[in-house]
Amino acid sequence: MKSINPYNNETLTEYKPHTKEQVMINIDKAQKVFLAWRETTFAERSRLMTNASNVLKVNKRKYAEIISLEMGKVIKEAEAEVEKCAWVCEYYAEKAEGFLSDETLEMPENKEAKVVYDPLGIILAVMPWNFPFWQVFRFAAPNLMAGNVGILKHASNVPQCALAIEDVFREAGFPEGCFQSLLISSDLVEDIIKHKDVKAATLTGSENAGRIIASQAGDQLKKTVLELGGSDPFIVLKDADIETAAKTAAKSRMVNFGQSCIAAKRFIIEASVYDQFLQLFKKEIKGMKQGEQLDEDAQYACMARRDLAEELYSQVKKSIDMGAEVILEGEKPIKGSAFFKPYILGGISEDMPAYKEELFGPVAVMFKVDGEKEALRIANDTAFGLGASLWTKDKIKAEKMARKIESGAVYINQIVASSPYLPFGGVKNSGYGRELAEMGIKEFVNKKTVSIGE
Ligand code: NAP
Repeated sequence: MKSINPYNNETLTEYKPHTKEQVMINIDKAQKVFLAWRETTFAERSRLMTNASNVLKVNKRKYAEIISLEMGKVIKEAEAEVEKCAWVCEYYAEKAEGFLSDETLEMPENKEAKVVYDPLGIILAVMPWNFPFWQVFRFAAPNLMAGNVGILKHASNVPQCALAIEDVFREAGFPEGCFQSLLISSDLVEDIIKHKDVKAATLTGSENAGRIIASQAGDQLKKTVLELGGSDPFIVLKDADIETAAKTAAKSRMVNFGQSCIAAKRFIIEASVYDQFLQLFKKEIKGMKQGEQLDEDAQYACMARRDLAEELYSQVKKSIDMGAEVILEGEKPIKGSAFFKPYILGGISEDMPAYKEELFGPVAVMFKVDGEKEALRIANDTAFGLGASLWTKDKIKAEKMARKIESGAVYINQIVASSPYLPFGGVKNSGYGRELAEMGIKEFVNKKTVSIGE
């Protein structure tokens, strides 16, 4: 399994993948450690999770460089990602016990009953490369605090990140086997799901992988949480602060060089402010600095893999061939490279890939609409439903419109961003279940009813 720098295609390092036999041994180790880990107190788990937060803070630069060089994001973004991981560890170190404390139920006739939250066991996490630390920590922090243990099958292009994360937990003092990274291809995932001691699976990734893992887990009657793709709308009404909206829109489309599930992808703008918005938005995107990953001033470097740049370009090319207007001309990826230059497209019709598919990279799609009703129609006319950003100074109207948007979250006059404090997840083909906050820690626990007789 190779770790390749997508900026220059250099092999950084190479690992021998785990065999099926090794994977089964690792699962046995995880199960043994689970039986002891489930008995530990919240105070002990919290102490170790706080250590993990400190390990991340102390080694921020080291981990950020691994992330940047392995998947192409710029160092500033990678450092922010490591800091966010430290934050989620602290958050659950402090709050897990409260979230999982017994809940007394209101009962008739002086009867007594409560719900207690027991860990399930080994949870499999299948994770993507785009936020190679953050996606894993937002799974691992709540689950380890809940008393579960984790095994990670990370994306094949980020093995160094996978091993570095395992090291964070080791250095923090977690028992060996509490969190393990398996260097495997996706072919072995089904065998892991079938293992009797693996109790549930979570996947962050594409719709296709979601369907496969959900059906494999469904066959075994095991629970899944799926965090899949998105084609998030960014709606700007005529009474919004257009300047702030345009700047935020550019940031939202270009975060992680466009490779974010909650990046704004479709910009739905009321006609009377469309030209003003577009001019500001285009200027922001054009003004962003490209550079190498470790260049402190660079705002983007390259995409995470060559094939991803080529795939994105083919979606753009097909849309242009079908009549899309090129508002900002990007650049075709140079053969064999993960470079890409941002595009802005307009004049989109319903049959184009730019309308129907997720554009997982720096391509913005513009829609000019007559009013709120049309804005909502286009916003909801997608197979996805992850996040939405809505801009208007009328907060009462905004809240009413928010209720009509088919997505897991609506952010009013803000960029859509994940936070330990806010439940995160989608509807429709963006998946199901929630990560983060109190809801996130309650996904993989046995919510056990205890009814007490005389
Ligand atoms: P992907 O191809 O689905 O890969 C994600 C993970 O699933 C990787 O570990 C991959 O392993 C594994 N995988 C792929 N096919 C599999 C299969 N048949 N069986 C078992 N495992 C399989 O997704 P991606 O292209 O890397 O990531 C981008 C997608 O993730 C986008 O759609 C994006 O929107 C979504 N995403 C969603 C969220 C969210 O929170 N909703 C967050 C980030 C990203 P290999 O690398 O070995 O193939």
